[in-house]
Amino acid sequence: MWHTMEMKRFFIKNYGCQMNSYDSSRISDLLVKEKYVQANKITEADIVIFNTCSIREKADEKLFSDLGRARLLKVKAQSAYSDFLIVVTGCVAQLQPERLVEKAPYVDIIIGPREIHRITQCLDEALRHPSAAPKILTDQTNQDKFSCYDEAQSLQQGETSMFLTIQEGCDNFCSYCVVPRTRGREFSRDAADVLKEARQLLSRGTKEIVLLGQNVNSYRGVGLDGKSWNLSRLLFALAELDELKRLRYFTSHPKDLDEGMARAHGEINILAPSLHLPVQSGSDDVLERMNRKYSRADYLGCIDLLRSRRPDMAFSSDFIVGFPGETDNDFQETLRLVETVKFSQAYSFKYSQRPNTAAERMEGQIPENVKSERLTILQEILNFQQDQFNQNCIGRYLEVLITKRGRHENQWNGRSEYSQAVAVEDNSLSAGDLVLVKITDRLSHSLVGVVEK
Ligand code: SF4
Repeated sequence: MWHTMEMKRFFIKNYGCQMNSYDSSRISDLLVKEKYVQANKITEADIVIFNTCSIREKADEKLFSDLGRARLLKVKAQSAYSDFLIVVTGCVAQLQPERLVEKAPYVDIIIGPREIHRITQCLDEALRHPSAAPKILTDQTNQDKFSCYDEAQSLQQGETSMFLTIQEGCDNFCSYCVVPRTRGREFSRDAADVLKEARQLLSRGTKEIVLLGQNVNSYRGVGLDGKSWNLSRLLFALAELDELKRLRYFTSHPKDLDEGMARAHGEINILAPSLHLPVQSGSDDVLERMNRKYSRADYLGCIDLLRSRRPDMAFSSDFIVGFPGETDNDFQETLRLVETVKFSQAYSFKYSQRPNTAAERMEGQIPENVKSERLTILQEILNFQQDQFNQNCIGRYLEVLITKRGRHENQWNGRSEYSQAVAVEDNSLSAGDLVLVKITDRLSHSLVGVVEK
């Protein structure tokens, strides 16, 4: 199964967030540039890369069962005198390299998120000098990643919608979160590099760009004028790119939401009127213990500020139930906040203890059954709100970015300005078209409509 040097095949399995998806696509660019070939199935590969997530316990468990399967492929390859490399990148690699070596000693290379641009060098070394000990790279001060990405410009045709990471790392240290330890201190790319990558994406057919950052609205990059630019300044610069039809950004922190961002939503037409703004809880006591650095009133103030500039603005959010010490009344506060904002979409989870976080050591850990009860109650309300939001779109005209063909003949799928999935029947469309659609019906998780001619 071993291929000659120029035929090495790699397979990437991605876990977790959009930033991991972005990193996985850039790893693929780096390898293709070095004449590696992307395999469609893990069984066709000589090199398997797991780009991992460590946000919740379940994510770890999933990885170790996948590693077990990769080990069998490795044993089979080696019995045929073929090399087979297993690489673990991403947040588990950064957070628990020793545990990885202990539980999966057959892993060859372990690389943290800030060092993944060195993957080709590591593969070359491992192929030329197979060694017993895994190679481990977890330095978090390295900021070369993006400049290496720039050199490996993707040769592939761009998707209609593409991610573009502008900021990495987090300095907030919410008491339940491992990200500051897996992704390091906040780092913002220069605006010139972001604009260059945006133009390259647009030149390859992309129409929508989704800016990514752990705290995308704490972006502070060097601007074209040499001064420090924040997110709103960058949004106005990107909005000047003619071919760009839609702009989004992900994930914002309420404490960094400012007047500039409200003005951007009020003045930039291509900026989507939907914002993901994680609140986590509606209780000030819980927000304090989470170290979220804003109060319930601050959060509602952000919503009002944005709606004052863009009345048709919709919000999605993240929630954690069962945080240590969360009382029934705290939980009721969360439900009251949900009723006040009325979210178009939301993600909600039971609190999951993460190693070496402040919350892990907190008193008042909530029993699993109480967490489950609260999650059920919350999700019922959030699902009802999402359904109401979709129901209220019937009869409205939404701007839909067509992304791909649907299952039926002449059917096309796309995304509305509120990120809703929309299906239309029309034989004159193609991917990348931005069309006005009259919404005629809603299904469980999508809308149906007719293209306005
Ligand atoms: S803001 Fe908080 S939850 Fe978000 S990545 Fe940073 S530490 Fe984690």
